[in-house]
Amino acid sequence: MHIENIKLINYRNYDKLQIKLNKKLNIFIGNNAQGKTNLLESIYICAFGKSYRAAKEKELIKIDKDKAYIGINVRWDFIDKFIEIKFEKKRPKRIRINKIEIDRMSDLFGNLNVVLFSPEDLKLVKEGPSNRREFLDTEISQIKPKYRYNINRYSKILKQRNNLLKSVQINNNKLKTIEVWDMQLADVGSEIIKERIEFIEKISKISKNIHKNITDGIEELELKYMPSFNIDCELSKKEIKETFIKVLNKNLSKDIEKGTTEFGPHRDDIKININGLDVKTFGSQGQQRTAALSMKLAEVELVKSEIGEYPVLLLDDVLSELDLKRRKFLLSAFKDIQTIITSTEDIDVLNISKEDKKVFYVSKGN
Ligand code: ATP
Ligand code: MG
Repeated sequence: MHIENIKLINYRNYDKLQIKLNKKLNIFIGNNAQGKTNLLESIYICAFGKSYRAAKEKELIKIDKDKAYIGINVRWDFIDKFIEIKFEKKRPKRIRINKIEIDRMSDLFGNLNVVLFSPEDLKLVKEGPSNRREFLDTEISQIKPKYRYNINRYSKILKQRNNLLKSVQINNNKLKTIEVWDMQLADVGSEIIKERIEFIEKISKISKNIHKNITDGIEELELKYMPSFNIDCELSKKEIKETFIKVLNKNLSKDIEKGTTEFGPHRDDIKININGLDVKTFGSQGQQRTAALSMKLAEVELVKSEIGEYPVLLLDDVLSELDLKRRKFLLSAFKDIQTIITSTEDIDVLNISKEDKKVFYVSKGN
């Protein structure tokens, strides 16, 4: 799939923008604070319904304005999708696909697939497990929209269980109802765990290959699922559920004491090794960045194999941080996929034909 047009009105630092993209490579060049990342963010929002960097949706609306608009035309192999999102200060956002308003966010997923790599992705490797769970949740839900629904349900059930644990501390009678919540938590939780096992299995194979290519065969990247309680990856969903219930039962008195649920997919993690060493502790800055990049690029291949079309690749300010060899790899490996790159300086793309690239210069939201 590829994006044909982007239209922005009163979005971030843009008054009005209308551009047509190249099917292959698009480069946005500009000084700091001109609107390059804002533009990538607007594309991301059309894929996932929310920003990855705005704390509040209001921030997306141009200061002093009341409304913002993003409109993106996506061309699939045989179909066109016109995604429009309207933000207003005083009411929830509205999303339309081919002019028809949708009521559920899950109806947006799957109309536009993107994989974004930005400098913040270093967190994926360097920081706490919540960053890796976020990676799992974002990337799995774009190939399996039902997964997002399960994640939302799981966090609701978990919240109820935790509230109940706290109230049991005061009133022991409430203990009886906890069993009902445990069943539900284990039911949805086991589905999430099963999806994560499958996803990590696939993504680890692909990212290992990509990483090997980027590093000229020197580095071996290994991803391993680290569930919060012991489970064999071969187990069926039903067996995972049974194990989960046992764990919840066994730990109940501790959970009550703490007022929180200690085990479950909300405490999962991924272990990331390079040549057998934990990259979080032992990796250099460049290795950490390359590991994160390999994981994201693996998602590109995974989307293609799961849904049959390549996603749009968004690379925010990545090239400047890679050495020449890694840069060349990146530009050549994905030459057939629509790629949108931002940079503060000119990029050498002389070897790419004129029809396959378009260069934009960004200045003050223009
Ligand atoms: P860098 O090279 O530093 O990453 P950039 O070109 O990616 O720069 P952006 O992150 O896109 O820059 O932001 C550009 C500008 O947008 C910033 O100066 C910021 O103040 C401005 N901006 C962000 N939100 C709004 C808004 N709601 N209204 C007006 N301006 C905004
Ligand atoms: Mg930027």
